[in-house]
Amino acid sequence: MKRVYNFSAGPAIMPVSVLKTIQKDLLSYQGSGMSVMELSHRSSLFQSIMNDAESLLRELMDIPVNYEVLFLQGGASLQFTMLPMNLGKNKVAYVNTGSWSKKAIEEARKTDGLTVEVIASSKENNFTENPAIPLVDSEFDYLHITTNNTIEGTAFLKVPQAGDVLLVADMSSNILSSRYNVSDFGLIYAGAQKNIGPAGLTVVIVRKDLIGLKENLPAMLDYKMHVDNGSMYNTPPTFAIYAAKLMFEWLKELGGITEIEKINREKASLLYEAIESSNLYRSPVSIGSRSLTNIPFITGNAELDKSFIQQAESKGMINLKGHRSVGGMRASLYNAFPLEGVKELVRFMKEFEAKVEGDQ
Ligand SMILES: *Cc1c(COP(=O)(O)O)cnc(C)c1O
Repeated sequence: MKRVYNFSAGPAIMPVSVLKTIQKDLLSYQGSGMSVMELSHRSSLFQSIMNDAESLLRELMDIPVNYEVLFLQGGASLQFTMLPMNLGKNKVAYVNTGSWSKKAIEEARKTDGLTVEVIASSKENNFTENPAIPLVDSEFDYLHITTNNTIEGTAFLKVPQAGDVLLVADMSSNILSSRYNVSDFGLIYAGAQKNIGPAGLTVVIVRKDLIGLKENLPAMLDYKMHVDNGSMYNTPPTFAIYAAKLMFEWLKELGGITEIEKINREKASLLYEAIESSNLYRSPVSIGSRSLTNIPFITGNAELDKSFIQQAESKGMINLKGHRSVGGMRASLYNAFPLEGVKELVRFMKEFEAKVEGDQ
């Protein structure tokens, strides 16, 4: 069967071995005569999927025991609301590094009685470079950062030194792709559909002392309710959790974050080198701020970009169109994206450039 190189920013590529396991389990999970989708979330079969998913994620990310792991729904976007609702008491600080940060800020501003301050922003340079982050004191309930800006292609690969404020992060597009110290954060959240598995699941990792700070929150929006019910206050996204568990197993087998980070760095440097060494392509992002997982590049000519994307597609390289706010191309190189696919892209970039030069 033909598989393409899928450069999508999300929902994104998953490993064939994982998809095959899903296919195998689809009609009868572990001899139960039921699909994994048909299992009761209260059944012991599903409970052990849930337990395995959590312990695998704890192992992969080295999550300390004083943190809870939640499997929720509503995407990272619902966390834009839940986070300030649960952790914001008086005043919170945000770093604006692009479209997703901006949405997080807008939602925080809707929280009753909360003052939201944007303490650093890269708007002035059109989000092409990480802003300097000032020291923030603990009068703020937290400081929110987006570790990887999926659309703009920037990332904080090192956690910014922000003083003694509680740090929280949207890690949707680079969770599990490079090593972060969970204990540097009070809370981490990520939609699953980029680097974890299929859409429909949101992972929240939260320090225990931050749970239950506020009373009378709507049940579904209260971290405490989800913690008290083991992420089963209501029916969890069972299939997505099952698929995430398989992804965690796949990553563990591969050698965990240490190994995948090496591979991700190799993939990203191949592409960045191809961009740097060419006369046609350019990265809009400053060198010290570049993402490993989402790599935009442009020719500076919208017509050429368009024909690049079309020709790449005819060669089985799909979803290279950049986000409409940036233009050009974007290659998303999540964990499951193979090195071979990056080599193929680089080969095509050279071929395309040679043709363009020949035409001039
Ligand atoms: C995709 C993305 C989101 C939005 O995720 P949803 O699951 O669609 O709500 C938020 N933040 C970042 C960094 C993202 O990449």
